[in-house]
Amino acid sequence: MNNAFRKLFATAALLVAACAAQAQSYPARSITWVVPFAAGGPTDALARDIADKVARPLGQAIIIDNQPGAGGTLGSGKTARANADGYTFLVGHMGYMGAAPALYKKLSYDPAKDFEPVFRFPDTPLVLLVPKNSPHKTAADLIAYAKQNPGKLNFGNAGPGSTSHLIAALFASKAGIQITQVPYKGAAPAMNDLIAGQVDAMFDQTNTALPQLAGGRIAPLALTSTQRMAQFPNVPTLSETALPGFEAATWYGLYAPKGTPKDVVQKVYRAYVSAAGDKAWIRKMSELGIQPLSDNAVTPEALKRHTLSEVDKWRQVATEAKLTLD
Ligand code: ASP
Repeated sequence: MNNAFRKLFATAALLVAACAAQAQSYPARSITWVVPFAAGGPTDALARDIADKVARPLGQAIIIDNQPGAGGTLGSGKTARANADGYTFLVGHMGYMGAAPALYKKLSYDPAKDFEPVFRFPDTPLVLLVPKNSPHKTAADLIAYAKQNPGKLNFGNAGPGSTSHLIAALFASKAGIQITQVPYKGAAPAMNDLIAGQVDAMFDQTNTALPQLAGGRIAPLALTSTQRMAQFPNVPTLSETALPGFEAATWYGLYAPKGTPKDVVQKVYRAYVSAAGDKAWIRKMSELGIQPLSDNAVTPEALKRHTLSEVDKWRQVATEAKLTLD
């Protein structure tokens, strides 16, 4: 071995040892997961639940940091620019990590280029909800009313480009109706106004809709899943009633800022895999209408592929359904 080669070899060995030491000592302190919506909504609820499970094998607390605004894009942009040291992550979803590039003329981040995908977690279907005393008893009623009264129905949503916004826009586009979208900083404040009758309808995810339905102050009209769900007795799917072929669910993934060490990503991914196999957790999720994904759909690589294909898909969907954020 000549001298130069020996030096190179020694440096490489040191680097490998440093990485291994970092992976072993990680995490050395608490970790932050940014949820870019108000507390109490479906993303927040799911994130808290998963963070709690992932924190155990990692041996450190995971703190949820709610950074609402602009349909999740504000918190996402800030997280893209956070330190890539394994202590800040983004809880991402279909809206700001899939549809946003097609909807926002100016976006302060690129979902595909500015993040390291860590793991994908289960999709959540949505349900069309109205206040308990609404005159509209079915999705067909709602559509018929909107046809007679263009723009009169107010739909609450979690902000421009959130899934509650996108699904309502697709619903209106497929039904051939005009609705008025009313943005909030998350689904939780939108839900408060739905309960109070300040808005006429809203699409919410099943995990937060179910506890509210139990309170009896809102009523479900139709599900966005292709199959009916036992948790929603007598609630039809949109596809079987008003809009054949309609199907929607919010997908989720955990992302780290670009440059986060690969071994950190692997460690967090493995912590999730070990937690997500827990039977009691799977049962709890299923009670909330959420089904587990297959193992090969959860990996960092799978989330990367999924993100890329969703960004492409939403460019087409947005054009076809004329979705804009004017
Ligand atoms: N995920 C919700 C939506 O996009 C927002 C939230 O979780 O508050 O509609």
